[in-house]
Amino acid sequence: MSGAFAVVVAAGRGERLGAPVNKVLLPLGGKPVLRHSLEAFEEHPDVDLVAVVGAPGELDALRKAARGLMKCAFFVEGGPSRQHSVMNGLRALPLRHVPVLVHDGARPFLSARLISDCVASVWQYGSGVASLPLTDTVKQLSGEGLTTPDRSRLRAVQTPQAFFLDELLEAYEAAFADGCSLTDDAGAMERLGKEVRLVMGDRTNIKITEGADLLFARALSGDLCPVCGQGYDVHRLTTGRPLVLCGVTIPGDLGLLGHSDADVAVHALIDALLGAACLGDIGRLFPDSDPAYLGISSMELLRRVTERLTGWRILHADVTIIAQRPKLAPFMDQMVKSLSAALPGCAVSVKATTTEGLGFAGRGEGIAAQAVATLCRA
Ligand code: MG
Repeated sequence: MSGAFAVVVAAGRGERLGAPVNKVLLPLGGKPVLRHSLEAFEEHPDVDLVAVVGAPGELDALRKAARGLMKCAFFVEGGPSRQHSVMNGLRALPLRHVPVLVHDGARPFLSARLISDCVASVWQYGSGVASLPLTDTVKQLSGEGLTTPDRSRLRAVQTPQAFFLDELLEAYEAAFADGCSLTDDAGAMERLGKEVRLVMGDRTNIKITEGADLLFARALSGDLCPVCGQGYDVHRLTTGRPLVLCGVTIPGDLGLLGHSDADVAVHALIDALLGAACLGDIGRLFPDSDPAYLGISSMELLRRVTERLTGWRILHADVTIIAQRPKLAPFMDQMVKSLSAALPGCAVSVKATTTEGLGFAGRGEGIAAQAVATLCRA
């Protein structure tokens, strides 16, 4: 055990993203942005304790985002600037001569390799700051014109920025005493003339600042990868019941038997949606032993399922109804319209086929339906 600590700064706002909530609380890969780096520290054997610094009024939300993470022992109110916030985080930790990694909560893709390198560099050299060589040429505005600094001598710094806790705290306190404002932690040491050692950062260790960063982060975390679910259902044909398919009542003398309105097409679609989101199946959600669902419209069940799919976008639904009779072609447009109204923004396809007289569907004993649904994270 190295006994290192971490301070994760999560007190910023999402102003440049235009988000209504703190950007570190936005969902990414099925969990808040902040939780990604907290888990990296939680799982790293070199790190013992983490202080999370948040805006006053947001600490409960940050605690919730860190639920179950044993190393996140301190939740500290930030100050008016990053400098104040880091200082509050450093002060919350037990004062020891151990490495402390200061990290931006808006950098979710913190690798175990980078944590190890920063900690090792502190033990060996007293500091370890994640940085990258520049790939873009930089221009400096100078008076009327521009100059081009030698790119090979420039570095972009990221976080973690790691130092011995006692030394960094002293440097921060000196900066405050001198009324000096800092944009990063290394700056506090540099102004005291202390050597700052750089370690190789990661190109993927991006800071979510603008909309394009969030898009890149969503791509990296797999949020933009579509997932598919499939559903299948069968109901028996009988007399004395209406035939409802995709929420449309089809005139005729036969209907489907079931606890609800027995809309076999919507049942298959519901199972496809639930399957894509790994949320179980229709029987588990709406058991046919529950009198609450007796005679219920399956379109109402579909509405309730879409409510459960918060955090998901339904991209596409394709339903195939397998029936020998009645003839469904005249009702296709209505069925597509009905499902489209229930699934706004989703491309809907409804198809029908017979089985050439074969099997239970061919003999007119029942109707089957299958569906495929494609979802991605909202
Ligand atoms: Mg069913």
